[in-house]
Amino acid sequence: MNCLFCQIAQGAIPAYIIYQDDVVIAFNDIKPHAPQHLLIVPKKHISTLNDLETEDTLLVGHMVQTASRLAKENNIAEDGYRLVINCNAGAGQTVFHLHLHLLGGRQLAWPPG
Ligand code: 5GP
Ligand code: ZN
Repeated sequence: MNCLFCQIAQGAIPAYIIYQDDVVIAFNDIKPHAPQHLLIVPKKHISTLNDLETEDTLLVGHMVQTASRLAKENNIAEDGYRLVINCNAGAGQTVFHLHLHLLGGRQLAWPPG
């Protein structure tokens, strides 16, 4: 499939990989919006949040658990961090393979733009 994050998950396109297991891969965002900006991506291709199925419940939980653990390991958990999933163009989604942004390492403004 001609999908950027599928290709990164398969190792066909390089990325700075922080963690991976059978279900997820986490790598540095190529254009970070914070000192720490990781993407936590399921290895299974799911285009958007709108395409989640009941069988994906554990997968989404594992994405969030992985983000939480990586935030602790990267020492941003105490100060604070943000998890974001953009869904479709109106929210700024540009890569149509589900991904969780983990942002931290600076004060994050609220509300987001
Ligand atoms: P979205 O806007 O879809 O929520 O987020 C997509 C993210 O993927 C963006 O933050 C963008 O910088 C990142 N990205 C796009 N292309 C690449 C790439 O080739 N490698 C990596 N590591 N990140 C990418
Ligand atoms: Zn994909």
